[in-house]
Amino acid sequence: MSQSLNIAVLAGDGIGPEVMAVSLDVLRRAGDKFGFSLHLNEQLVGGAAIDAVGQALPPSTLAACEAADAILFGSVGGPQWEHLPPQEQPERGALLPLRKHFGLFANLRPSVCFPSLTHASPVKNELIPHGFDVLCVRELTGGLYFGQPKFRREIDGEMTAVDTMIYKKSEIERIAHVAFAAARTRDKRLTSIDKANVLENGLLWRATVTEVAQSYPDVVLDHLYVDNAAMQLIRRPASFDVVLAENLFGDILSDEMAMIAGSLGMLPSASLGAQKPGGLYFGLFEPSGGSAPDIAGRGIANPIAQILSSALMLRFSFGLQEAAAAIEEAVKATIAQGLRTGDIWSEGTQKVGTSEMAAAVAANL
Ligand code: NAD
Repeated sequence: MSQSLNIAVLAGDGIGPEVMAVSLDVLRRAGDKFGFSLHLNEQLVGGAAIDAVGQALPPSTLAACEAADAILFGSVGGPQWEHLPPQEQPERGALLPLRKHFGLFANLRPSVCFPSLTHASPVKNELIPHGFDVLCVRELTGGLYFGQPKFRREIDGEMTAVDTMIYKKSEIERIAHVAFAAARTRDKRLTSIDKANVLENGLLWRATVTEVAQSYPDVVLDHLYVDNAAMQLIRRPASFDVVLAENLFGDILSDEMAMIAGSLGMLPSASLGAQKPGGLYFGLFEPSGGSAPDIAGRGIANPIAQILSSALMLRFSFGLQEAAAAIEEAVKATIAQGLRTGDIWSEGTQKVGTSEMAAAVAANL
């Protein structure tokens, strides 16, 4: 009997439902080819859920996620929900609780600029003649964003804000293992980012990553201070393989890399929880970009970020390496054929819409 993949599908708002629908078609095609079937539980999330039932992450959606082996997420948010209190808005009200609830501590964002799409990158083309392929691994549940105490109040007659940067050694170890394991499947080079010249956290980070490196003698490790990393990633993006950073630094650097890659519409992401016996992960897989309200409903969004997110899901949550690689190759072949959505279009290539692009990827599988 073929393997049945148990997936919670949360398409969300804006372009989310458009790119989700066509990426599920690609996934079904991959299933036909590689012998798996899909058990999909589609649920409301974000603004769509606020409009329907008054909250961004309804209990029924959370229950569906708990019952699944992976969450395929579209995107949430839009101007019509921006008047709500911050905690109730689509992103804060849905994504952050999901990350917290499932302990999704590892965020993986491949930042790939295809050789034929370097024109979309703001980096000078002579610096990236062959494009680049960098994987950003970001710690997602620790550091300054969650450390206590955290407050804003008057102290000695003056308004004062406190955020706490805190990492336990075990938290650094587990994210370092994810990054080293990922490097092993790539070019076997890992650059760890810290601020060890100023922060105690940086000293512990560097010492711990260096210690973990001993279990991965085949991976070459180097370290960069975060300020230098911000510069080097722009100057020589093609020289990096895997970049590992704590929460705040990873947030900033992975956005920098997304911008350098050219279009948000091309970039997937994976947020993983603890590794399960057998080496698979429960995870949430989503495009790196948002709900793109400026182009929603027009059938012109690039579906590739969503399609590549489902490939990451096949790899990390279901161990279907061959099917994942086949989807990634089909995307490359589609780009090589000259098909482009508006965000990556250039003179001499063929402009297509969301469904044509996804259909071409499916056909190339
Ligand atoms: P955005 O990523 O939605 O859009 C930024 C730009 O990139 C826009 O011009 C958009 O058209 C373009 N873009 C993004 N994805 C694209 C695609 N697949 N194809 C073609 N073009 C694409 O960011 P924003 O405009 O800052 O935010 C819009 C909304 O999305 C906000 O409500 C924000 O809160 C939300 N958001 C959600 C997530 C998420 O769900 N994880 C992440 C970021 C932003």
